[in-house]
Amino acid sequence: MTIDADQETIRKQFLPYALPSIGEEEIAEVVDSLRSGWITTGPKVRRFEEDFAEYIGASNAIAVNSCTAGLHLALAALGIGPGDEVIVPTLTFCSTANIVVHLGARPVLVDVGEDFNITPEAVDDAITSRTRAILPVHFSGQPCDMEAIYSLAGRHGLAVIEDAAHAVGATYHDRKIGCDAQQCDTDGVPRAVVFSFYATKNMTTGEGGMITTADPTFAERMRLLSLHGMSLDAWKRYTSAGSWYYEVVMPGYKDNMTDIQAALGIHQLRRLDGFITTRQRYAGLYDDAFSELEELVTPVVRSDRTHVYQLYVLRLVPDRLAIDRAQFVEELKTHGIGTSVHFIPVHLHPYYRERMGHRRGDLPRAEAIYDQIISLPLYPHMSEDDARDVIRAVRRIVSGASISGHIYRAAS
Ligand SMILES: *Cc1c(COP(=O)(O)O)cnc(C)c1O
Repeated sequence: MTIDADQETIRKQFLPYALPSIGEEEIAEVVDSLRSGWITTGPKVRRFEEDFAEYIGASNAIAVNSCTAGLHLALAALGIGPGDEVIVPTLTFCSTANIVVHLGARPVLVDVGEDFNITPEAVDDAITSRTRAILPVHFSGQPCDMEAIYSLAGRHGLAVIEDAAHAVGATYHDRKIGCDAQQCDTDGVPRAVVFSFYATKNMTTGEGGMITTADPTFAERMRLLSLHGMSLDAWKRYTSAGSWYYEVVMPGYKDNMTDIQAALGIHQLRRLDGFITTRQRYAGLYDDAFSELEELVTPVVRSDRTHVYQLYVLRLVPDRLAIDRAQFVEELKTHGIGTSVHFIPVHLHPYYRERMGHRRGDLPRAEAIYDQIISLPLYPHMSEDDARDVIRAVRRIVSGASISGHIYRAAS
């Protein structure tokens, strides 16, 4: 179905849903690594960890090869395994739940609120005697209600591992997600925060991630596990300062970041605040354009935290539109606009349906959200004109498909 077959499409050139912003500094730094001969974990990884720790305000930062690996390491370092339960919001990327399964534990999938974040009520309802950890996801770059979540964790003796894949640079009560200061408020709760540098995220190393924690013992355990469980500084064994001797103190994993990735990360980090400002500016343009339309709901924004807009998720109001989400996505494509959907709720995937006995209806808010959402292009590499093209395309589709629109009146 094409609503404006008789009208010109908005763009001649397709606007991809996401593109990274890679500058000349990043390219030169990668080339420098390649020429140096040191291409795996080395001095640039250490520098990136130090820079990142300083930016976030964390005393420990551990670079890893993905956010998925970091989340897995944090749970593994806590000794979570068979018989344990970890509370995970269903509206997330599959890896947030998959890593719990990898450890033989059970992900307990719970519903989200109107801001798409896990709700403290859902967490509270899901806590059992087997619960070991809560895994909140700062959806789209807006922090969860951390005060309530940490208070629950403190009361029940649970760990909190934050999936901050979207949230590098975001703040909660004026403090950066992942910083020590926030962790001091939560004495006694083991805590790690894990960031993603995947290609579409707010800063990228191609693939990559970082864990921060205020707890030096927890940090050391995760660092050990990230490289085969080999005694610390084993990565130096090929330098003149190193030694051939190392000891394996536990069977670790292979989750280390390479210097080639860190070369990108060092420069991406320096540009991050600028990236965030641009994302926030484009999000403001979208909000202004769409909030007045009854057919659309713009993201719910909380006043006590900053949103870094890793995603801009637009919600359709089904009663007011004659087309569904799938048709909306197709219409945007015909106008040259790429989109995505974040996320297919984890409990609706076949593996989780079968393993956990889930079905539609179990987590109704996330299901309703899923049916109605579209992620629009929003990244610093696109221009303001690109953002205005997105706005024009969305407006045109809405006016053609509005339930009171003449086209559908005539057709019905
Ligand atoms: C991207 C993403 C991840 C995984 O990050 P990787 O670095 O690709 O492993 C985890 N959780 C959420 C919510 C994500 O969006």
